[in-house]
Amino acid sequence: MSRDKRIYSFEFFPPKTPEGMAKLREARKQLAQLGPKFFSVTFGAGGSTRERTLETVLDIKADGQEAAPHLSCISSTRDELREILALYKSHDLHHIVALRGDIPSGEASAGDFRYASELVEFIRQETGDWFEIEVAAYPEIHPEATSAKADLANFKRKVDAGANSAITQYFYNADAYFRFMDECDAMGISIPVYPGIMPIYNYAQLSRFSAVCGAEIPRWLRLRLQDYGDDLASVRALGLDVVTELCDRLLASGAPGLHFYALNQAGAVSTIWQRLGI
Ligand SMILES: Cc1cc2nc3c(=O)[nH]c(=O)nc-3n(C[C@H](O)[C@H](O)[C@H](O)COP(=O)(O)OP(=O)(O)OC[C@H]3O[C@@H](n4cnc5c(N)ncnc54)[C@H](O)[C@@H]3O)c2cc1C
Repeated sequence: MSRDKRIYSFEFFPPKTPEGMAKLREARKQLAQLGPKFFSVTFGAGGSTRERTLETVLDIKADGQEAAPHLSCISSTRDELREILALYKSHDLHHIVALRGDIPSGEASAGDFRYASELVEFIRQETGDWFEIEVAAYPEIHPEATSAKADLANFKRKVDAGANSAITQYFYNADAYFRFMDECDAMGISIPVYPGIMPIYNYAQLSRFSAVCGAEIPRWLRLRLQDYGDDLASVRALGLDVVTELCDRLLASGAPGLHFYALNQAGAVSTIWQRLGI
């Protein structure tokens, strides 16, 4: 695939304050110049960010850019999800990232759906082909999966339920993605699977995220990042080198595009972009 046919997207989280929203607007303006297909906005499990996700998405749309809200089903009822889908439809949003969400600790109820495949099925039942649906994929295996094989079979359920494409959890080991794609081929899964790319902003934060979501930071990288301690400039410099090389290898080997976890900042993504010469 030629590089210009590839699809790029950037993910944000909904800011909590007007200042956060203003900062995101600035970052978004810079990132919009890179010509992504869409910006996606995360959704807190159980609907905790429902209003803020919608507000952020509408802000993006008002600037004439394609916006894709995430929707997670954990701890939500069928009626609540139906209402959110109707709301997205009423705002003429046609693109959605459908997820289970992380299981909340404590007594919160699981909701009407246990898995993202059930949510995808529900979205198709309720809204037909209105939405382009993205789902999550895990080249390094979802942390709760009983085996790699079971996780792949579960990914296939989401595809069979009607997902159009997938975005992966972030990873720093390109071979995990290539193997995952080979396994998808062998299973007859042919939807595009976009590598999720996490720039390295801060080692402590990355290490916390990674422990929860099962993304592996390779030992050689982890030890070097740890050595830098509070020297954030060196952490970022190494991160930019490593992530640019990762993206370059993925694109050179046929990845259909890239989805950046931008964390509401433009700097790292823009630098990686320039270095890639996209
Ligand atoms: C691109 C991306 C965006 C994300 N955005 C958000 C967000 O906005 N909000 C948020 O809360 N979280 C988000 N997450 C995190 C995601 O919600 C978690 O990773 C969650 O733990 C799993 O979600 P899922 O949609 O992959 O779940 P699922 O596909 O349902 O899988 C969850 C686990 O259940 C297993 N499983 C699936 N189906 C079955 C079955 N039928 N029987 C037995 N086991 C099964 C799977 O193997 C896996 O281990 C995002 C993740 C990614 C990769």
